[in-house]
Amino acid sequence: MQKPARYIGCEGGARVASWSPGKVSWLLTYPDAYEVGLPNQGLQILGEILNERPDAVAERTYAPWPDLEALMRRDGVPLFSVDGHRPAGEFDVLAFNLSAELVYTNVLNCIDLAGLEVRAERRRDSDPLVLAGGHCTFNPEPLADFVDAFVIGDGEEAVGEITAVLRDWKAGGKTPGSREGVLRELATVPGVYVPSLYEAAYDGPRLVGVTPRHPGVPERVEKRTIADLGAWPYPKHQLVPLTEVVHDRLNVEVFRGCTRGCRFCQAGMITRPVRERPAEQVRRMVSDGLAATGYDEVALTSLSTADYSGIQDVVGGVINDPTCSGQVAVSLPSLRVDAFTVGIASEIQKVRRTGLTFAPEGGTWRMRQVINKLIREEDLYGAVESAFSQGWQRVKLYFLIGLPTETDEDVLGIGELARNCVQVGRGAANQGKGGRVTVTASVGGFVPKPQTPFQWFGQETVPGLTHKVNLLRDATRRDKGVTLRWHDPRASLAEGLASRGDRRVGAVIEEVWRRGGTFQEWSEHFDLRLWEDAMAGAGLSLDWYVHRDRDEDEVLPWDHISAGLHRDFLWQDWQDALAAAGVPDCRWTPCYDCGACTGYGLEHVVASAVPPGGGSQGTGVDLSSGHVVPVRLLERARG
Ligand code: SF4
Repeated sequence: MQKPARYIGCEGGARVASWSPGKVSWLLTYPDAYEVGLPNQGLQILGEILNERPDAVAERTYAPWPDLEALMRRDGVPLFSVDGHRPAGEFDVLAFNLSAELVYTNVLNCIDLAGLEVRAERRRDSDPLVLAGGHCTFNPEPLADFVDAFVIGDGEEAVGEITAVLRDWKAGGKTPGSREGVLRELATVPGVYVPSLYEAAYDGPRLVGVTPRHPGVPERVEKRTIADLGAWPYPKHQLVPLTEVVHDRLNVEVFRGCTRGCRFCQAGMITRPVRERPAEQVRRMVSDGLAATGYDEVALTSLSTADYSGIQDVVGGVINDPTCSGQVAVSLPSLRVDAFTVGIASEIQKVRRTGLTFAPEGGTWRMRQVINKLIREEDLYGAVESAFSQGWQRVKLYFLIGLPTETDEDVLGIGELARNCVQVGRGAANQGKGGRVTVTASVGGFVPKPQTPFQWFGQETVPGLTHKVNLLRDATRRDKGVTLRWHDPRASLAEGLASRGDRRVGAVIEEVWRRGGTFQEWSEHFDLRLWEDAMAGAGLSLDWYVHRDRDEDEVLPWDHISAGLHRDFLWQDWQDALAAAGVPDCRWTPCYDCGACTGYGLEHVVASAVPPGGGSQGTGVDLSSGHVVPVRLLERARG
């Protein structure tokens, strides 16, 4: 077996969970390899919150790699926790974090390895309940047959409320027939969706509705949102692994939510409004975390960290903190180019230059207006210049292809932007006496996601994406300093199916899993043939699910799950996209009533009333010069 360290637990910061018979026991499961799952903040946050409760206990597990899985199946060893090495079947809850669709077959594999029936309807009263949370739950339907209940939105408060329900069930002895009752009760917890209590109806291939089977079960499940991130300073004891993992550094979440309004971005849409952590708390979490873990690098995480309203002070505060002895590198893994200034670059480089990735996403201004990523070329060149002038030699740029209305010209614009960045970088590096500069353009196929304005868009075909990759490869072949990387267009087809599928796609996921299709996130394991065969076997058309534009009045499989966004707001935003018209960032401009705050009585929470410096910040105004940038912004009804 490779890498036994994946399964032994005992990481720095890990606590021995204190079990007792009355406590509700949760096995928090990340359905991917340990090195991807260990840094996951969601698992660590919920683990700590649950273990602090007197009535709960939580341990972790990850999807066993195929080498260990083969041994487990050969020797009859069930899925086990890495903390206490307890069999999964001894827990009351098997709770999955769903952060990517291609892990769905791993979810089924973990349920099976736990010794449970994969289909929820066949599980016994005494079996653990299978729950799931995470961003993918905003379309839970493809996993509806396998998961007992989904938690939609932030989990910090919901896990406590679920624990209270399960505690009473457990105290009552989980008597025969009581599983149905506890599910009915869970369905009354805000943000909890119990798919078996809903009926999906079809008219031919079309879904016509997903409706409750019983009175008292909500017609729409509204997401949970914690109003104040500052009230949840977790994780307090970040885990330090014994083996190599991705993102091996201290991670401190500085804010949740994003209102830039990028139309392709599901995370931005479903996590509104913006909730910043107080700057003082960020500084304390950083210094306490560094002292406890011994890391010499901290990542300030969020969907767009340079947007944090006190970012330069926080970065400077961390780097110049005497208790950190000037030894701490700061990385900002999610950077928006129009908010990255020379000031931030100069603070970061004082210690160590961490990797810089910018995501312009679209190659031309027209394309970026379609997707509402309103950054100008000047913003990008300014950010690149800041970086290279401060000694960086490599910058990564991330782009999407296969976007709505995209032409070959838009695709070729990616090559041109990368080429120009190398030019700008060479000039800046020479002035700063830097060395050779390189720009890597990484290109991914766009997959339309539920609960976004692009949810109605017919995804680009594999031949279409391949044509665009080839076009770009030919165009950049002779550009010195530009490296092009791209993702396998075939994987985006399976992701597109799992992303916007309905309940019928569950049978396809099950079939792919039964034929050995696990770890589909990993290119060496991904097998499109399995998906195509399973679709054909189920009598379903990939083309119909993936490549078809949806009509305005079509029932979407996730219409009964609410991220708070009004459907007519999303539809209007889709029409605006087709007209290449932008909408502003409502953090700094008046509300246009998308519904995410107004519907729940919430507001943005920002640490400083002043927008971060530099760039256009999606407001349409160059904040440094006060000039209007050439973007057509729409006036919307004010809430
Ligand atoms: S409700 Fe208004 S302020 Fe809140 S995210 Fe939507 S547009 Fe922005």
